[in-house]
Amino acid sequence: MTATIIDGKALAQTIKEELHERIAHLNSKGITPALTVILVGDDPASAVYVRNKHNTFTQLGLKSDVLHLPADITQEALLNKIKELNQDPLLHGILVQLPLPSHIDSHTVIDTIAPEKDVDGFHISNAGALMIGHPRFIPCTPYGVMKMLATQQVPLRGAEAVVVGASNIVGKPMALLLQKEGATVTICNSKTKDLAAHTKRADILVVATGRPEMVTGDMIKPGAVVIDVGINRGEDGKLKGDVEFSSAVKVAGAITPVPGGVGPMTITMLLVNTIEAAERQL
Ligand code: NDP
Repeated sequence: MTATIIDGKALAQTIKEELHERIAHLNSKGITPALTVILVGDDPASAVYVRNKHNTFTQLGLKSDVLHLPADITQEALLNKIKELNQDPLLHGILVQLPLPSHIDSHTVIDTIAPEKDVDGFHISNAGALMIGHPRFIPCTPYGVMKMLATQQVPLRGAEAVVVGASNIVGKPMALLLQKEGATVTICNSKTKDLAAHTKRADILVVATGRPEMVTGDMIKPGAVVIDVGINRGEDGKLKGDVEFSSAVKVAGAITPVPGGVGPMTITMLLVNTIEAAERQL
């Protein structure tokens, strides 16, 4: 038996089609949802992500600007730029592409974005809102994963969920969202002893470590739902997940592929958050 493949690309397309009506309503009120992405420096992977976001937004008739700043920009100059954008009434979302050059403190930068324009949901007040169970903007990647689980009608109440990876942008918000829906959640990190003992218990296994193919089929409970967040480019130029797909697909009940799984959902949820930010202006 092989697992059901959870098609993130198709789901992303469906969600985008459902957004047309909301966009048209905003347009009828004279509002075009608008996002500015700030890209600092010339990291090639970041440039690809930023271009994808820009294309997705413009395809739906949303406004998208990319502010490309030099790698040696001072932190103060970057903060001033963000403060300027915070004041722009025609702009609904501001996103700073991570990672930032090492001389810049990313926490300070993110916390300078006006929380009501923080469509990534990384601002400390948005992270806090999620923690107390009243999210305002949900970080796009875990938000997309929750949508996938919902459309697959995966029961979350009482389920054993294991999240491998504990970053602020994926692992931690993912765990909070699963827990909010009644799952019993374990978060693993690089110091976890006997990782397989945890992953093998999981009805829902989310892997976000940045370690290519580290979770293999023998670490998965038969029938589990496996969500692979990882995006790693192999030496052959191909994208690989954090889960070894070839062995996992034989054990899991359902699994996301890489590419075509979580990735397309992340950008789509950025659209959703930006539209929501614009709607709040009404
Ligand atoms: P980070 O590097 O910020 O965090 C990685 C986490 O994984 C850390 O908590 C780390 O533990 C943990 N970890 C590392 N190695 C192991 C291990 N051997 N066993 C258990 N845990 C481990 O990564 P991100 O969360 O930003 O990204 C994770 C992956 O997801 C990457 O491949 C990234 O490219 C991808 N990604 C994909 C997105 C998408 O749209 N599909 C969006 C964002 C990210 P510790 O805390 O101990 O250091």
